[in-house]
Amino acid sequence: GAFDRRPLIAGNWKMNMDHRQGITLLQKTVWTLQDANHDFDRVEVAVFPPFTDLRGVQTLVAGDDLPVAYGGQDLSPAESGAYTGDISGQFLQALGCTFALVGHSERRTLHSEGDDVALAKVQAALRHELTPILCVGEDLEVRRAGTHVAHTLDQVHAVINELDAATVATLVIAYEPVWAIGTGEVAGPEDAQEMCSAIREAVRAQHGDDAAAGARLLYGGSVKANNVAQIMRERDVDGVLVGGASLDAAEFASIARFE
Ligand code: PGA
Repeated sequence: GAFDRRPLIAGNWKMNMDHRQGITLLQKTVWTLQDANHDFDRVEVAVFPPFTDLRGVQTLVAGDDLPVAYGGQDLSPAESGAYTGDISGQFLQALGCTFALVGHSERRTLHSEGDDVALAKVQAALRHELTPILCVGEDLEVRRAGTHVAHTLDQVHAVINELDAATVATLVIAYEPVWAIGTGEVAGPEDAQEMCSAIREAVRAQHGDDAAAGARLLYGGSVKANNVAQIMRERDVDGVLVGGASLDAAEFASIARFE
């Protein structure tokens, strides 16, 4: 990455770690990083626990003044009311969340969420001062057809075209090729760069230089301690979104210390 933007190392725990396990994992992760004198101001670290862990995470982070951010793995596009099973942006904000993941491929696939839903969720996050991390990316079929850039940019445009430039400058967009998620199949650093550069140019074309310079672009998909450095070296990659490897405190701490 070109580190005029603050790198972001994000751990998506998915449906792993109950509220007790989550506390232990977060403590171990932060202690490991603090023991290694990690500069949290320079490289931001964030975790995305299950909703049921968030109260415990808030209590730990506030009580011990831990220099780590956290967020929800999803949120409702609505504010409150008859939405059984959903969690609103207001609830996340009240628990001290900084971020919300939006449109993760597992939400898109398992819950049939399209770009219209992603846009509504991004807007809901913004209403509550949460930074949305918009997840985009193609599946294997699209990759084989060679239309992955157009496909992914369509997902990006569906959201950014509805926002103003100042807002887009604060956005985080995570490129996560579906074929590389949880498969051990990591996209090459040049694949990550190809897409992140295409996304940055799309942001520039739509919203200008300041938006393009501000928006942080992440790569996600089988990121591990042993491949993060080469990915982070790419010019337009400002961070990583880590699934499986964020469940191991030592591994995730080494990812956060990617140099
Ligand atoms: P993975 O997941 O690191 O386990 O591939 C990444 C993600 O889905 O965010």
